[in-house]
Amino acid sequence: MKGREVPSSDMLLARIVVIPKPGKDPAVCPSYRPISLINVDMKIYAKILANRLGRYIAEIVHPDQVGFVPGREAPDNIRRALNLIQVATTSGRSSFLLSLDAEKAFDRVDWNYLWAALTSFGIQGDLLKAIQALYAGPRAQVDTGGFLSAPFSILNGTRQGCPLSPLLFALSIEPLAACIREHPDVRGMEVGGKQYKLSLFADDVLLSLTSPITTLPNLLKALKDYGRVSGYKLNADKSEVLDLTLAEEERAVMRDRFPFRWCHPSMGSLGTQLTPTWGQLYKANYGVLLPTLHAMLAAWSQLHLSLFGRIYAIKMTLLPKLLYLFRTLSIPICRADLTFLQSAIHSFIWGGRRGRLPKSLMFQSKRRGGMGVPHLYSYYKAAQFAMLSMINLRSGAPLWTNLEQDMGGPQPLRTLQWTQKATPRTLHNSPTLQHSLRLWNLCREGDGLSPPGSGLQPLFYNPRFPEGNPPGAFGWWIRADITEVRDLILQGRPVTLGYLRESRALPPSETFRAVQLLYFVRSILRETPDRRLTLYETYCRQKHRGRGLISSLYTLILETTFPQDASYITRWEDDLGSSLEGNEWADIIDRTSRVTICTAVRENCYKVMARWYIHPQRLAKMYPGTPSTCFRGCDEEGTYRHAWWDCGMVSTIWTEVFGDLSRALGTPLSPNPWVALLNRPHPEARLTRGEHSLVSRVCAAVRICLARTWKGPLPRAS
Ligand SMILES: [Zn+2]
Repeated sequence: MKGREVPSSDMLLARIVVIPKPGKDPAVCPSYRPISLINVDMKIYAKILANRLGRYIAEIVHPDQVGFVPGREAPDNIRRALNLIQVATTSGRSSFLLSLDAEKAFDRVDWNYLWAALTSFGIQGDLLKAIQALYAGPRAQVDTGGFLSAPFSILNGTRQGCPLSPLLFALSIEPLAACIREHPDVRGMEVGGKQYKLSLFADDVLLSLTSPITTLPNLLKALKDYGRVSGYKLNADKSEVLDLTLAEEERAVMRDRFPFRWCHPSMGSLGTQLTPTWGQLYKANYGVLLPTLHAMLAAWSQLHLSLFGRIYAIKMTLLPKLLYLFRTLSIPICRADLTFLQSAIHSFIWGGRRGRLPKSLMFQSKRRGGMGVPHLYSYYKAAQFAMLSMINLRSGAPLWTNLEQDMGGPQPLRTLQWTQKATPRTLHNSPTLQHSLRLWNLCREGDGLSPPGSGLQPLFYNPRFPEGNPPGAFGWWIRADITEVRDLILQGRPVTLGYLRESRALPPSETFRAVQLLYFVRSILRETPDRRLTLYETYCRQKHRGRGLISSLYTLILETTFPQDASYITRWEDDLGSSLEGNEWADIIDRTSRVTICTAVRENCYKVMARWYIHPQRLAKMYPGTPSTCFRGCDEEGTYRHAWWDCGMVSTIWTEVFGDLSRALGTPLSPNPWVALLNRPHPEARLTRGEHSLVSRVCAAVRICLARTWKGPLPRAS
């Protein structure tokens, strides 16, 4: 490609599949979303270019744009919008939100314009040529219902489906964003002397504006000018307005002059509903989603799903919908609503009957031998605290942190999370921050995220150190970046004056303040000696936004809320008369989930291990008066072990099975309950992994047969 060679036209031939948009008329073309399936070799090539471009794109594209830029996410823009709604309510200026709808934004980008835009951003030479090679006479065929159209040439647009395309689109729309940002007569909402005008997610543009009579004509002109060079076309009558605090006459003028669609009572944006006031958010979002989820559960409960199948359905379909709102909306949640949904999930999983396993085991992660059913409130907290941790980022922090800082006042946001229970009144201006911190202070200790004595505690703006609140006289310390308690701790002890003089060049004029600070640090160390950073605190110290933070936090919170339930472990050890080390149980749990990929077999493995099956003795306890003797009619006490191992016919079957296995594998295998029931490797024979896997599968098959005849005599045939 360097030598200006272009890929052959066959390589660039794409197949366009059309996906119907929900709720639109299927008889017209615009109701379909075209996705280009491109050749795998070209896709790899495009992905390589996308990775290279991705490294720099965050420096080129303003943080207003969060779509497809690594390290930025849609919830960032929503959190900003929530704060701006509050700004509109308190500032008294006539404000509104405008969501622009572009006609086929990706498909219309003019290539000459695109190359000019890339060049102006400094993407030149080989990289530009490499990107252009993808656009050297590409052709496509449309695939409808298995029929292919004749190939045709593509002359503009970035392809939906190509890994490079979203980045190119983000670059192509950036000049428009810059123009709006700098336009003096497109007026945005103002906080702390800064204007917050727009936020973008790819082609999804949300504007937060004031003074509509001046702003709108200028905005439309800018869009038109941009459209003339780039191919962008505004769908004015599909663009939506949400009236926040418009005056009566402004509203009338706007309705008269512009064809926008007026939203009432809420406006959809990036999968959430924005409302004119903060107080309406919960109802507009959760008020709609929760009933849908309940209806979904009700419909699913009519289906014949296995236990694991029901859990998968919850995890893969229900949870993501809820989690998206947890992540995007930093607003309080109604605990009763969540508990109601949680109990509906419980009832769905157990088919409307009483749960067979303890609750702690249900929510426990699979790694710890649980069923891994999502615990909703823990997910909510994990999502909220993952978002809150962003205020600690020193570089690449999302824009809402700047906004909340401007709304909140002089105290650096970062310090707020680590001072104990001190939320200054000024923060009431930012409802999201106020909510996040309130929830944080409520849970930080109980959930083991950050008990008192954190080394991240600030030295300044800390109510516990009044001399530095505000830090007026401590300028030297702030410049030297000594701002947290742990900056003055070395190997678990406060640093000495000598150390500060030698290593940090402490000037003599600061000696008194050093003594003050060290006294404060010493008092904290005395209260909480040996306090190390918790896992959450180390996450917050990371320079960049971490991936998978919510699930790590969820596990942390869950394991504190529900300590590991080891009841089935003790019962097995009592039954089988020997005890294992902790890591041996971890091994059993791990093997149980890996015997096969077949869900039905895995489910049996898990149920046997977790003692899901109800044996006669347990039944007699549940319903006094029922006999506790063996179901199979042998008159012995029906314990769990008896039912699975000791009962006459059952024990004969196991002996035969182990005999057959010995012959097949050519090594003697004596019947062993740990192997037969809990998938342990056979203690006497040295089997290869494949052989062991065979033993486990055969034993699982036997257990499934036993489970099918659980409540009666065994069939005669063996
Ligand atoms: Zn029996």
